[in-house]
Amino acid sequence: MQRLFGTNGVRGVTNESMTVELAVKLGKAVGSYVQGNIALATDTRTSSGMLKNAVTAGLLSTGCNVYDAGVAPSPALQYYVKRSEADAGVIITASHNPPEFNGIKVVDADGTELPREKEEKIEELYFSGRFQLADWKEIGTLYDVEVLDLYMDGILSQVNVERIRERRYRVVLDCGNGAACVIMPYILSQMAEVVTLNAQPDGTFPGRNSEPTEDNIRDLMRTVKAIGADLGIAYDGDADRAIFVDGEGSYVYGDRSLAIVAGYMVERHGGTVVTPVSTSSCVEEYVRKKGGNVVYTRVGAPIVARKMIEIGALFGGEENGGLIFSNHQYCRDAGMASAAMLEVMAAKERTLSELVKEVPSYALVKTKVRCEKKDIIERLKEKIQEGRCDYTDGIKVYTEDGWVLMRPSGTEPILRIYAEGKSEKEAQQLISRYRSLVEEELK
Ligand code: MG
Repeated sequence: MQRLFGTNGVRGVTNESMTVELAVKLGKAVGSYVQGNIALATDTRTSSGMLKNAVTAGLLSTGCNVYDAGVAPSPALQYYVKRSEADAGVIITASHNPPEFNGIKVVDADGTELPREKEEKIEELYFSGRFQLADWKEIGTLYDVEVLDLYMDGILSQVNVERIRERRYRVVLDCGNGAACVIMPYILSQMAEVVTLNAQPDGTFPGRNSEPTEDNIRDLMRTVKAIGADLGIAYDGDADRAIFVDGEGSYVYGDRSLAIVAGYMVERHGGTVVTPVSTSSCVEEYVRKKGGNVVYTRVGAPIVARKMIEIGALFGGEENGGLIFSNHQYCRDAGMASAAMLEVMAAKERTLSELVKEVPSYALVKTKVRCEKKDIIERLKEKIQEGRCDYTDGIKVYTEDGWVLMRPSGTEPILRIYAEGKSEKEAQQLISRYRSLVEEELK
């Protein structure tokens, strides 16, 4: 069967593969499947209005009522869906992609991204065109809805606001001209003095690219240092991921901020942390030191979230700054991650750079090779003789020097190879060894 949804909804370049026609048809497919109340939000992209109206028309044609939340972070819409009577949510966003992209993501009644089985049902409707169009008397109604206050209250109820305020932190937020602009400065200013960068919504992304990489957020790093702030926070386009900068203006890699928050959650509540097999061992090592344990999943935030529900885990996340707090909601939430980082700093009376120093240090190297062979993993399983192997997602081999993960991409004909070692050199050696092994097999 043809596939429409990628790892994070449907994505494409505006007016090329992401068109009004696609959006109307997907709206009809989602509406035919859900048959209920659907909440909808967008990020700040130039094509968001165009796609939102097209999806909305499709949804209404199937008799669904649509609750339009306007511009909102993905987690704010997801929180509303979870807390309200909505039967599903639709988010128009391409997350961290360049500005010419946009996407359509569907969330379930509990606010979590749809599991693959449900996406398949929607794809079936989309490709077959068997839509449940409503009679003229039953066409859906379009309402406006406010979701941001509910979201802010939800986050503030999860942390000790008074204790954070007492520390009189100064925080610089880089909203990246994305969905973070409409609420993150307001949430953070309940707890700290806030200075903002790129805080006007603008889908051309004039300030920086929306992926919060080290290169993209140099203005933030400089500002934090220049004004003597305690923390910098950068958001991706739909504000489900947060990347931190310490008081010295240094970029904190997502695996280390994940470890810091995970360690704190385990210290306070005990239990299990869920993360994909691609995450650095620094997380497991740190969590174990704090008395917890780690459960690994396949790569993908929705997979982490669903595993957390299944085993009743309190916390989980990815090394790209996507943190999931089950007491709040089962999806990545950058607002919650921001509040949680302040909470850890305040509770431990430590600066972020002090906290980072506690986390063990590893070097992670990534590469990819073009791979058309569908049975590559099976072949590699037979061929690899050393170390302990884990087959959660592709093959992960634990060697004496670290580990190597080889996994096929879900959307492109490539095999991703990740290697981690105690040093950059060790990781590089592992990756070149396994790269040649893979290339040998592809000949
Ligand atoms: Mg995102």
